[in-house]
Amino acid sequence: MPTPFRLYDTKSRTVSDFTPQVPGTVGIYVCGMTVYDRSHVGHARAMVVFDAFTRWLRHEGWKVRFVRNFTDIDDKIIARAATLGIDPAKLAQDEIDAFHADMAGLGLRPPDAEPRVTKTMPQIIELIAALVDGGHAYPSEGSVWFSVTSYERYGELSGRKREDMRSADTALGKRDPADFALWKAVKPGEPAWDSPWGPGRPGWHIECSAMAKHELGDTIDIHGGGLDLVFPHHENEIAQSECGNGKTYTRYWMHNGLLTMESGQKMGKSLGNVTPIELVLREYPAEALRLYYLQNHYRSPLPWNAEALPEALGMLSRLYDARDVAEAMGGTEEDADRVASELGDDAKAVLEEGRAFPGRFEHSLREDFNTSQALAHSFSLARAVNRFGGHKKARKRGAPVVAPALAAFRLVAASLGLMAMDTQAFVEEVKDKRLSALGLRREEVEAMVAQRVALREAKAWSEADAIRQRLDEQGIVVMDGPEGSRWRVRLDMAVEA
Ligand SMILES: [Zn+2]
Repeated sequence: MPTPFRLYDTKSRTVSDFTPQVPGTVGIYVCGMTVYDRSHVGHARAMVVFDAFTRWLRHEGWKVRFVRNFTDIDDKIIARAATLGIDPAKLAQDEIDAFHADMAGLGLRPPDAEPRVTKTMPQIIELIAALVDGGHAYPSEGSVWFSVTSYERYGELSGRKREDMRSADTALGKRDPADFALWKAVKPGEPAWDSPWGPGRPGWHIECSAMAKHELGDTIDIHGGGLDLVFPHHENEIAQSECGNGKTYTRYWMHNGLLTMESGQKMGKSLGNVTPIELVLREYPAEALRLYYLQNHYRSPLPWNAEALPEALGMLSRLYDARDVAEAMGGTEEDADRVASELGDDAKAVLEEGRAFPGRFEHSLREDFNTSQALAHSFSLARAVNRFGGHKKARKRGAPVVAPALAAFRLVAASLGLMAMDTQAFVEEVKDKRLSALGLRREEVEAMVAQRVALREAKAWSEADAIRQRLDEQGIVVMDGPEGSRWRVRLDMAVEA
């Protein structure tokens, strides 16, 4: 059986034991993208958090069905398509393709299903019809409205009073200011689908209720999304689904916090402060962004600024360094205690931390998916390994001491998708991306490093130093060691926001 865990539920506002409908299985629905433009690092947080969460659940032995939708028809899609002079369906498809490329670039596993609104029309219409039949919705002037007074518990998720709620949907024939549209009557020149109430298209909220029901049934174990979706989107999903299906809609509401700008604003296209995923991936390895998100608890707001990625890359590099150091030593645990006591305190610390790691790491994740704490344990272990690696004797005899640490790093990779790359591939990717961000060519750098080596061999010290200086000014650090000169790109260069 999979391992139990605890989870915060936005609706009950408490952390409690997770109990699924069917033992051993978890059905998860996460609100996906409205595909009218490129995705940015604000969107990517939700994508990475739920990728890591489902990856970890599977590692813990849960059978997961993970569903994330596309809203492929919407006011914003229609408006942007009109500006570009193309068909809205073409724009949506192009943006879905771009989104898939971004997600692949981020190293995310595809969801088990990716339903689209335009392919779920019969189910959407069926759910609206059930709501009309049940007296929870009323047609008016070719549109259909959900009547919020028909659902007593409206406002429970967001904690808002019904009197204070207004829906952004405006049109004639609406009975209460909080009533929202399930079906919108066609406007001239816009795409439309046939329905019992006339041609039109669905409102945003009903789409998710219908897609979730179609893919996961009347009740979902975990419904996820960004905190900005609590009201009105998720509040409305609950009302529609519970009135239409007569069952509990969602057992746990899991909301990730938002990225915040230094100005206190959220990141948004309309605010003109977005960093596209594409741009980040040109300059940084995907795991740097992943680490940046996961080093914070998923529910916390997360500040985004110019130091975010350079710092995350520095931290990630230290994890890879530690693994590299441990791998170079080898790794069976035989006689570990004796060897550690002979090698001294730094060795004992590595052995102790390595052995304690699985318990600490798993405890953190089982308590409301606390990746922040889980990674703090990982950094602490990496520091101990790097410190131990500084001893000469460690390189020769350290194998048994670092064996538990190597297992620990494998656990981090399997559960969270960090340190999932081969070290050499990671180092090369960092070089390529940082060089191109700095506008440098690898061949030029390598030629300069080789020239410096030749000058040193000829004992032309001052010329050699001058080259080192020039490289340093361009952000290239040269390290001289017993195996010759190696170089790397300095990590403290920011991505342009
Ligand atoms: Zn949704």
